[in-house]
Amino acid sequence: MEKKKGVAILGSTGSIGTQALEVLEVYPELFDLQLLTANRNADLLIEQALKFKPNSVVIADEGQYEKVKEALWSADIHVYAGSEAICQTVEAAEIDVVLTAMVGYAGLKPTLSAIRAKKSIALANKETLVVAGELITKEAYENGVNIYPVDSEHSAIFQCLTGEFHNKIEKIYLTASGGPFRGFSAEELTKVTKAQALKHPNWDMGAKITIDSASMMNKGLEVIEAKWLFNLKPEQIDVIVHPQSIVHSLVQFEDGSMKAQMGLPDMKLPIQYALTYPNRLKTDFPRFNFMDYPELTFEKANTKVFTNLQLAFDALKSQGTAACTLNAANEESVKAFLDDRISFVDIAKINEKVLSKVTNILKPSFEDYVSIDRVSRRIAREMW
Ligand code: NDP
Repeated sequence: MEKKKGVAILGSTGSIGTQALEVLEVYPELFDLQLLTANRNADLLIEQALKFKPNSVVIADEGQYEKVKEALWSADIHVYAGSEAICQTVEAAEIDVVLTAMVGYAGLKPTLSAIRAKKSIALANKETLVVAGELITKEAYENGVNIYPVDSEHSAIFQCLTGEFHNKIEKIYLTASGGPFRGFSAEELTKVTKAQALKHPNWDMGAKITIDSASMMNKGLEVIEAKWLFNLKPEQIDVIVHPQSIVHSLVQFEDGSMKAQMGLPDMKLPIQYALTYPNRLKTDFPRFNFMDYPELTFEKANTKVFTNLQLAFDALKSQGTAACTLNAANEESVKAFLDDRISFVDIAKINEKVLSKVTNILKPSFEDYVSIDRVSRRIAREMW
């Protein structure tokens, strides 16, 4: 029998993390859960650890260490605290694959540690590639590490490319649902509320990515993510709005042929594929029925109203640390929006201003990314 795959889930208490645990639960003969991490949600981390019995857990918030330690002391599970501990525990010999399911810039350092420790990466944390795609893909190449996409659009592209890796890509089309404000005018967008922005029509996700989806920044981040995952030029990446979220993305090859990957919107499928590639496992996920979707529709993305998408293309073309700046500004502005400090349209305005103010460093080192992230956040925070 094949050796079980040792799995680490970074961000196990989030939307992707909890769905990943649902996947692992179905195939105990295939996976050996080694590590779970969370930021502050000690209660859920404890519950997950007692149920799944990983070797170790890390709680990033050091103030919660005693609580987690006490709850798990009799279960023979190692407990650590702090961000640095996440970077160290991913290096454990028993871990084969690291699912990066934490949100935001916090994913960068642990992903880099995992790559340097030669672990396969199942990448949900798109911000890592947005911030430092050049560095991450270089390190992955030098360490012989594969990065398997979890994001449904990138998983779709990856699935279309399987068996075609020797063929050149002419273009890819990333599909976008358009979010809750699809079709809104710039004027209408000025009046939207937080509750509306948090209600995605097709996907149930964490708060940050839900707001990013409403502002189309999520698609912008995905454009940058796709550049690094599939080694594309900005002009080879197009975005098309597809409100039903059934066609998850498409590849166009040099002979003009196009391949799409389709299915009902359910993140468990791309999570599972990233963990089991190149194999497909039998599932009982609901199946797509054509009669439920007599029409699949496609529209042009409106970058004049959803300026975040244009900003992402601009940052990608600028290269260097421009995307790192955009990501930092966006993380701060989304947080400010969720804290009721700014309006929805301010998110894109602040992102644009920060992008225009911060120096772009070409050929950045790791330290450059760290300092540009810090400076960009400070400038963003001065705007409210
Ligand atoms: P959630 O907000 O639901 O979960 C985030 C997870 O990360 C939680 O476990 C959280 O812990 C942990 N976390 C947050 N901040 C930190 C930190 N500073 N240090 C360590 N851990 C931290 O996010 P999602 O699951 O929605 O998204 C996770 C990632 O996956 C994002 O990058 C997102 O873009 C990407 N993604 C998500 C999809 C989805 O369907 N949700 C689809 C495609 C991609 P705690 O619970 O303790 O706060």
